[in-house]
Amino acid sequence: MSRITAVFVLSLVMTLFGAFSAVASGPSSPEEAIVALKEGNIRFVDGRSAHPNLDLERIRDTSANGQHPFATIIGCSDSRVPLELALDQGIGDLFIIRVAGNVCSTDEIGSIEYGVDHLRTPLMVVMGHSKCGACTAVAEGAEVHGSIPALVAPIGDAVKAVKAHDHSLSGDELVAAVVEENVWQSIEDLLMKSPDTLKHVNGGTVKVIGAVYDIETGEVRWLGEHPKQSAIIAAAGGGNPHIATADPHGEADAGHGAGHH
Ligand SMILES: [Zn+2]
Repeated sequence: MSRITAVFVLSLVMTLFGAFSAVASGPSSPEEAIVALKEGNIRFVDGRSAHPNLDLERIRDTSANGQHPFATIIGCSDSRVPLELALDQGIGDLFIIRVAGNVCSTDEIGSIEYGVDHLRTPLMVVMGHSKCGACTAVAEGAEVHGSIPALVAPIGDAVKAVKAHDHSLSGDELVAAVVEENVWQSIEDLLMKSPDTLKHVNGGTVKVIGAVYDIETGEVRWLGEHPKQSAIIAAAGGGNPHIATADPHGEADAGHGAGHH
């Protein structure tokens, strides 16, 4: 065997091994993914982060073999909510959407669908956070300008729901209640507008859960699935695959539909 052939064979073996280890190493079920995120956040809060998957080898591996993140997360753009750091994860681990107020409108839902339906992350998390400026602005009826009113419109629904439940809340208590309700609102908006996500939730391949990050302690409070998930799924059409195919994105769906079942 010539030296060049030997080098080629060696690099081929390393590439194959890299592909195998990239696929096999991460959590593959919703439950495993939740445990990995919970453990990562505990390490972060305790000041003993492992900073996994941040070396040059990981960069090369994910570049050569593609990304296989184990969770899709939508969180707020707030600079105090650094998701990879707070969950102690590295390159290629998390498919993250960050937008002010972690709202689920068209662009965010499309990005989530890429993570859930194309990359097949077994877990989807909506992560709100304490003292959220977007939630505070809407809860207090602050004047907002430019493109911000349209951006924060979904938070208005969360404020209405909180006030309908308890009209006496104000100040910090009101903001905290809106932050949590806004997590449920985003999950509801996602499930109502994304047949692709519903299909995976119904099939048990994906769990959609809520969480709230505390910017004072770094701790994540895990909220679990939407308490009214069954009712939302029923209202959304049950995640029937025929409805998903009728979606405007139906063609793209059919393109990789072979691997769905
Ligand atoms: Zn925020």
